[in-house]
Amino acid sequence: MTSYKELGVHPVINAYATVTKYGGSLMPPEVLAAMTAAANSFVDLAALQRAVGARIAELTRNEAAYVTSGAAAGVLLAAAACVLRKCPEAAKTFPQLEGMPHEAIVQRHHRNGYDFGVQAIGLRFIEIEPCLDSLRAAINERTACLFWFAGTMNTPDDIPLPQLLKVAEAHDLPVIVDAAAQLPPVDNLWRYTQMGAALALFSGGKDLRGPQPTGLMLGRRELIECIRPISSPNHGLGRPLKVGKEELMGVLAAVERYLGLDHAARATYCEDCVALWLAALNPLAGVTAERAFPNEANQPLPWCRVTIDAAGLGMSADAAVRAFLAQEPAIAVSPLSDTQFHLNPMTLNRGEEIIVRDACLRVLGGS
Ligand SMILES: *Cc1c(COP(=O)(O)O)cnc(C)c1O
Repeated sequence: MTSYKELGVHPVINAYATVTKYGGSLMPPEVLAAMTAAANSFVDLAALQRAVGARIAELTRNEAAYVTSGAAAGVLLAAAACVLRKCPEAAKTFPQLEGMPHEAIVQRHHRNGYDFGVQAIGLRFIEIEPCLDSLRAAINERTACLFWFAGTMNTPDDIPLPQLLKVAEAHDLPVIVDAAAQLPPVDNLWRYTQMGAALALFSGGKDLRGPQPTGLMLGRRELIECIRPISSPNHGLGRPLKVGKEELMGVLAAVERYLGLDHAARATYCEDCVALWLAALNPLAGVTAERAFPNEANQPLPWCRVTIDAAGLGMSADAAVRAFLAQEPAIAVSPLSDTQFHLNPMTLNRGEEIIVRDACLRVLGGS
């Protein structure tokens, strides 16, 4: 079996975040075991998708659930469901939506790199200002749905989600919440849908630590049923976004594990990592480290913000980020600005916080 190293692609310690560019997250043994077991036999894939969905729905207190090939695939399929619920004929015409609802409303500052799926199925984004007047003015008979993206795009200016949901409900319009990275807290798995979102989308391969190419679509049965006929193993718009039997069983095991996790102990571990790094970094000349909260995608966990005196150290933050990647083992940290980066404990294996600390001393302390 060829290893990463034999290919010249080196393993990385992830002190960055659950970012896809470094592989998102690591699957725990329960997930790997579920995938291996699933790989041992053939199975009726549509029946398995249905059964896994029913179990995940029950576990996450949702009416229905569907496993997608990532949250970004979920964005595409959710948009499709919002067209299909009124116009089943769209199944044969995507992305051609003439004469059908073909507009998706989004707050202008929520636009992001994951929203391509909405346009790919033929919907046009109608960007609104973050105020209810702008929202009301945008709604018309061409509106198919509203999108709410959660993460770094959120600002205090956002239309509060409950207010947006209320306006949408008055017009019988589904609201899709892309909550890909909004775990923890674990109760987000039901919070958005209980608030009234028609569908909430999560990555299976971020903090859930399921297989990388998985995601969860949670919410209304009516919408999820629209997806099945056009998705693998059936033919249609969703066919290129297939998930295998191993991914289905793997993400189910990941959800089961996540619901049983000691989230308080995990938060304590993250606090301990940050405390360890602050104690090591703050004595270094030209380096200031502080605890920051919440972390990268607003998850309620601490991380460590490092500010360096670039002139004094003769090194920009950018150069420091590259120096961490050049360590043995390589360490990915989260870039922030010309003088700042973050160290994130969220994606570390226990013990790696020491490796990260020692690398900090070499990179920033000259030792
Ligand atoms: C990570 C992320 C995605 C993509 O999730 P995948 O599971 O990698 O497809 C989509 N939307 C947001 C807001 C994200 O943070």
